[in-house]
Amino acid sequence: MPNAPRILIVGGGVAGLTLATHLGDHFGEHLGDHPGRHRPHRNQGHAEITLVDRSPTHLWKPMLHTIAAGTWDVSQQQLSYVAHASAHRFGYHIGGLAGVDTALRQVTLAPLIGPDGVELVGQRKLVYDVLVLAVGSRANDFGTPGVMQHCHFIDSQAQAERFNAVLRGRLLRSVVQDETLRVAIVGGGATGVELAAELCSMLDTANSYGNGASHIRERLRLTLLESGPRILTAFPEHVSRSSAQQLQRLGVELRMGAKVTAAELEGFRLADGSLVAADLMVWAAGVVAEGTLGDDTGLPLTRSRQVVVGPNLQSPADAHVFALGDCASLTPAGRDKPLPPTAQVANQQALHLARHLPAWVLHGTPVPPFVFRDLGALVSLSEYNAFGTLGKFGFLKGLFVQGTFAQLSHAWLYRKHQIGLHGVWHTFVMWLAERLNRRVKPKIRLG
Ligand SMILES: Cc1cc2nc3c(=O)[nH]c(=O)nc-3n(C[C@H](O)[C@H](O)[C@H](O)COP(=O)(O)OP(=O)(O)OC[C@H]3O[C@@H](n4cnc5c(N)ncnc54)[C@H](O)[C@@H]3O)c2cc1C
Repeated sequence: MPNAPRILIVGGGVAGLTLATHLGDHFGEHLGDHPGRHRPHRNQGHAEITLVDRSPTHLWKPMLHTIAAGTWDVSQQQLSYVAHASAHRFGYHIGGLAGVDTALRQVTLAPLIGPDGVELVGQRKLVYDVLVLAVGSRANDFGTPGVMQHCHFIDSQAQAERFNAVLRGRLLRSVVQDETLRVAIVGGGATGVELAAELCSMLDTANSYGNGASHIRERLRLTLLESGPRILTAFPEHVSRSSAQQLQRLGVELRMGAKVTAAELEGFRLADGSLVAADLMVWAAGVVAEGTLGDDTGLPLTRSRQVVVGPNLQSPADAHVFALGDCASLTPAGRDKPLPPTAQVANQQALHLARHLPAWVLHGTPVPPFVFRDLGALVSLSEYNAFGTLGKFGFLKGLFVQGTFAQLSHAWLYRKHQIGLHGVWHTFVMWLAERLNRRVKPKIRLG
């Protein structure tokens, strides 16, 4: 490895940004240093750490449904990569990954196109000594006809904001023209379930404006379509049952065993030929790795384009390539299934690499196997409730939780992410600013 090895991290989400921040703080080169700045302890040598992301800002992905519904203020939650990189001693490039050449150890970034369609920056190449892929995942339309054309996705901030803008317009129309608004969501996983509850919450708040004269809450006809026999199949059955009952109390129609064969202008077509009529359609089913990793990289990929990695998160085909988070597929020893694509796995993998990558880069010390600590799983039904189970550790392992305790535990996941990026004091100030803003601003996005 050269004097200052080049570590290139592609994807600044839960995994990539956590890794870049920790590596930068403890191991980063003099990037952006200016005299007088506090220098974190650096007793392990240094490296040139660069993060690439296609977006200029980071948003914690598990909150995207709240941005889509307009119940959280996106401007307060997003983080600027440029500013964060400068404060944490790593470099940042905006750009979408277009290819990886493992022989030359370089990645290609796609040209940057402005909102007016003008090419701002041409294709670029970045060289690396160590590549970490952390580009995440997106919903999978499984090639279902019409989905790309007629459905909204909420896999990125841009998509969530676009859905919210369209939703606000449709709600306005339904009030002015005294119409029903029919929303149909495909996918009874955490994303679809949490979005359904959040939409109800937004309309409960909207209803209170004008003393309920608009009857906006009653105008919503919300349908959740799931091909399996129950919602939240990745969760234990009692979490699924409690969540289904809560959604039904909110007026959400649950359609189990509903196999969507096409998305059409008027709604979703099911395998039995019937139509679920909808004015707004959301696709939140399936998982496929993000990005454009092709077979030409020589890296083994799964059917859903995830990079296959060994226990130490390295590609078996190339020790200089690591992958983590949703875009990686790791099947732990003794298990027959890969780890699930969750923020919990992504975060733990990032912290594991942050701890062990420096020794591998500087001294060739092997990265020890990653061991996942299952801390449980929670699903949040907005302000109404939350359900989940505690993890496989400790006295209360596997315990079913709900109500305020589950809601606070779910909220804590985000605060923990923020503390990892900004530290405790900074996170506290951000939380306080949020609370103050909620006192003086509308609780939902109105324009
Ligand atoms: C609505 C919703 C709710 C969820 N709720 C939960 C929950 O409650 N608990 C939980 O554990 N998990 C939850 N998840 C799943 C969780 O968000 C993901 O598992 C987690 O974000 C994965 O982290 P990651 O770093 O692998 O990917 P991400 O956090 O998605 O980050 C990927 C990054 O890569 C960037 N990127 C993508 N493609 C490219 C490219 N070609 N070039 C450059 N950059 C690229 C993206 O801009 C993004 O910044 C939820 C997901 C959604 C959508």
